[in-house]
Amino acid sequence: MPRTAEILIPLALESAYSYAVPEGLELAAGDVVQVPLGPREIVGVVWEVGESASGSNLRPVTGRVEVPPLAPGLRGLVDWLARYTLAPKGSALAMTLRLPDEAAGTETIRVGVRAAGRPPARATAARTKVLAVAADGAVHGKSALAKAAGVSLSVVDGLIDDGALETVALQPEPVALPPDPDHARVPLSEAQAEAAAKLIAFLNPPPSAGEGACGAGGRGDRNISGEGGAPLSRPSLRRGPPSPTQVGPARLGHQDADLGQARDRVGGGSSAPAAILLEGVTGSGKTEVYFEAIAECIRRGRQALILMPEIALTAQFLDRFADRFGVRPATWHSGIGGKRRERLRAGVAAGEVAVVVGARSALFLPFAELGLIVVDEEHEAAYKQEDGVHYHARDMAVVRGRIEGCTIVLASATPSIETRVNAMRGRYAHIGLPERFGGRRLPDIAAIDMRLDKPERGRFLAPPLVAAVRSNLAAGEQALLFLNRRGYAPLTLCRACGHRYRCRNCSTWLVEHRFRRALVCHQCGYAERRPESCSECGTFDNLTACGPGVERIAEEVAELFPDKRVIVLSSDFPGGAERLRSELQTVAEGGCDIVIGTQLVAKGHNFPHLTLVGVLDADVGLTSGDPRAAERTFQLLQQVTGRAGRGDRPGRAFVQTYQPEHPVIAALLSGDAERFYAEEIAAREEAGLPPFGRLAALIVSANEREAAEKHGQALARAADPPAGVMVLGPAEAPLALIRGRYRFRLLVKTERSINLQSYLRDWLAQGPKIRGNVRVSVDVDPQSF
Ligand code: ADP
Ligand code: ZN
Repeated sequence: MPRTAEILIPLALESAYSYAVPEGLELAAGDVVQVPLGPREIVGVVWEVGESASGSNLRPVTGRVEVPPLAPGLRGLVDWLARYTLAPKGSALAMTLRLPDEAAGTETIRVGVRAAGRPPARATAARTKVLAVAADGAVHGKSALAKAAGVSLSVVDGLIDDGALETVALQPEPVALPPDPDHARVPLSEAQAEAAAKLIAFLNPPPSAGEGACGAGGRGDRNISGEGGAPLSRPSLRRGPPSPTQVGPARLGHQDADLGQARDRVGGGSSAPAAILLEGVTGSGKTEVYFEAIAECIRRGRQALILMPEIALTAQFLDRFADRFGVRPATWHSGIGGKRRERLRAGVAAGEVAVVVGARSALFLPFAELGLIVVDEEHEAAYKQEDGVHYHARDMAVVRGRIEGCTIVLASATPSIETRVNAMRGRYAHIGLPERFGGRRLPDIAAIDMRLDKPERGRFLAPPLVAAVRSNLAAGEQALLFLNRRGYAPLTLCRACGHRYRCRNCSTWLVEHRFRRALVCHQCGYAERRPESCSECGTFDNLTACGPGVERIAEEVAELFPDKRVIVLSSDFPGGAERLRSELQTVAEGGCDIVIGTQLVAKGHNFPHLTLVGVLDADVGLTSGDPRAAERTFQLLQQVTGRAGRGDRPGRAFVQTYQPEHPVIAALLSGDAERFYAEEIAAREEAGLPPFGRLAALIVSANEREAAEKHGQALARAADPPAGVMVLGPAEAPLALIRGRYRFRLLVKTERSINLQSYLRDWLAQGPKIRGNVRVSVDVDPQSF
């Protein structure tokens, strides 16, 4: 019979396509091949090989691409990702497969210049200066040379053209040097040492009798099967007649695209927990604890991955890593381009790169011997990818951990409800660090009741907060004022006619950015000049800024404390990530008195001089009506108040609130996180919300409102929910208009025992045909709903 191969192509295609395998070409699952697709040639991955009588009618595979095959573990991850998120399998593949492309090939090769030993045809003063610097015979960077000589780059270029300087290709910077697990071992506190020992005990857990879950057996042998019995990490043989479109390593049991069930199996069937929650209050020294596990992992010759929610701002973390391990780790994020990306991938695949610190996409790197994944600040919303394939990197880390047989550590001071519940149920192990390192105390937190302690007219800092800042400054200590609002004012209106400025593409108010003199949409980036007179009624000079943003607070602070050094930090900070990093450094070194910032400064940073935190609007997140609002607000407030008192002096925090009796605020004030978790978990259970029920959102969007609404209604009519499934909507999505597209939302809520994915798949398959520019996007486990 003719040989065939199922080839998955990294485009938004639901499944693999069948091709004939020509004589003489030996293919195995995972091989990267070139195939014809329509009129063009494209690269894909062999998902399965087989034989079929109809094979002779298929177009043949063009040939193999000589790159390392996609490992079984990653293929398993792709299958899982597609099944769980309902994303097209080709889109899931695209996340793991970044082939060397043209763009990568044209990446600039670093060149330097050195004196060629020939005089220039024409000598000028500027040229003489350059040649004087280059006279040392060393290889210089072009711009460094120009700078050293105090001339412009064109002078250097002229000398190259003249032949007086010659260019030399420089060695590319190595992607990463090997970290030394014993470079500078930090003496741990007793609590830390105990936590680290527990953590290390979970690394490479010994195989448990009869069960081949994490860590058991050889690499290819791990049976992480579902009810179907097919190991996920290895292609299974087909049962029954092959269907041309359904391929893949595993036709797992019907519950397989389900994380909860996956955890059930691991938790129940094996002694190894699916993950370890490392929960320690802010400043408890979690980092040093998981560094010990990483060190042990390196000693055992395995690789470690540290996921971070905000990779662009981790300079402080990278330095800390270097202090401990002698070198900075390799970093992976979307900003890394071309050749370097390729070299890093290759180094990771060859097992040469021992530790990678990365954003969520690092999860799809082809690690050769992954031993440990640390998900730092596991509760962060940034781990959820909100476009394309809607996946949660924390959950996918757990899945990858199962596939690779590696240990997963979820670190947080304020774990997500999901993770807390998993720990409660014993699916995850729990290691706690209840106290700050070095006997430091957590900050005292006090509420300022804004109904009683009103700020002056047109001001936003209440008198007790102003007094606290003043006394702090007098003591020579740093203060942080936190407001999670970028810009100057969240709303601009005309006092004469009441006109409010909104975005022309989105259902949002335009935010005034005073430094830019613009009104800006935070959703789509649309910006217009702030007008002098109302664009509606024409009245001159009557526009009013409503409410505060950080820029406005900066204005108020400048009036209150004119001689103090103030830094405003938000993602609008001019000059990009580089400048932002240096400003954060300045804050960390005590080079400023008052920091005013958004959530950008709230998390993860270590500011040893900071002893006072003022939260200007603690209620801001509580009013959204989103069931996750309480959790998010609690986490954010814990994090930001936790910035205070991390150095030698104790810290305190004030939160301005209109509802000090709100459970979130009350729990924060009393320092009683357990009470908050208990109440929130009970409330979720009561309402059947995740993790006690399952949830998915379907966003129907279109260029015309009516088309979106109609399609949403047609979908709802086709829903036919069985017992245990509830379909709500369509209703206008919380952001009803984004970038000119109208959005309606259907919410699907099911009991835990229901296979949400298979219900959604059937429904969408039977639902109305998609017409025109209508799009339906599925978000399983939406983060806000
Ligand atoms: P967390 O991540 O739990 O908020 P960190 O790991 O950042 O806490 O530690 C808080 C502070 O305590 C940091 O400044 C860190 O350098 C310091 N620290 C933690 N553990 C040790 C240790 N064993 N020896 C010295 N300093 C430590
Ligand atoms: Zn907009």
